[in-house]
Amino acid sequence: MPKVCLDAGHYGKYNRSNVFPSYYESDMTWKLQNSLKKELEAYNIRVITTRDNKDVDLPLHERGMKSQGCDLFISLHSNACNTESVDRAVVVTYQDVDWTDIDDVSKTLAEKLGECIKDTMVLSGYQVYQKKSDNDRDGNGKLDDEYYGVLYGARRVGTPGLIVEHGFHTNLKCARWLSADGNLEELAKAEAKVIAEFFGLKKNEEWYADAQRWAVENGIADGTRPNEPATRAEVWTMLQRLAIKKEK
Ligand SMILES: [Zn+2]
Repeated sequence: MPKVCLDAGHYGKYNRSNVFPSYYESDMTWKLQNSLKKELEAYNIRVITTRDNKDVDLPLHERGMKSQGCDLFISLHSNACNTESVDRAVVVTYQDVDWTDIDDVSKTLAEKLGECIKDTMVLSGYQVYQKKSDNDRDGNGKLDDEYYGVLYGARRVGTPGLIVEHGFHTNLKCARWLSADGNLEELAKAEAKVIAEFFGLKKNEEWYADAQRWAVENGIADGTRPNEPATRAEVWTMLQRLAIKKEK
């Protein structure tokens, strides 16, 4: 069973949108973390989070290192810049490292998540990049460490890691979109599906899910209230719909 470590990017009330003042990046990432956790668990993926309290800050590299033993680390964010029109999704991955394939895993998934976020949020595009630190952070004599603290931490414990920027909150359309809880749930569903497919998993489904889809697609029933009894009137109606459909 895969295990994923989710990191809500910021704590408290942090990174307010200048174009949509009710938006705070920290509020969005907390909600998205919780929705994504729920959606991933529906695929039998085990999920841990770097913080269990929205109001407590933790050092960046410690958050990354909390992913020890996980198959994936994702830090959730929205981006900011000085140009309001910029709206793209951005995913930061590891630079090429030859001692492990966690960099390749990160890059493969980054492309898929970037595409997914672009499509779900209807953004202009997405970008995947890497950034190396100018300092020898781990003291191994090489300038080969990650610039971003959470990725530095996650790479040190051998977890494939990503920083995922869900558009730019300096863009009005993005900030407004990310402020709607329903949209965040939709985003969580879409991202969970991409991650689950990456691990080769399908959603836990009820035994009747196939029949339910068939009934809805063919106009036999609306697919609601699966566990309630049907009246005779409802059975007649469903049979008639099937018969009429067959005659056509
Ligand atoms: Zn952020």
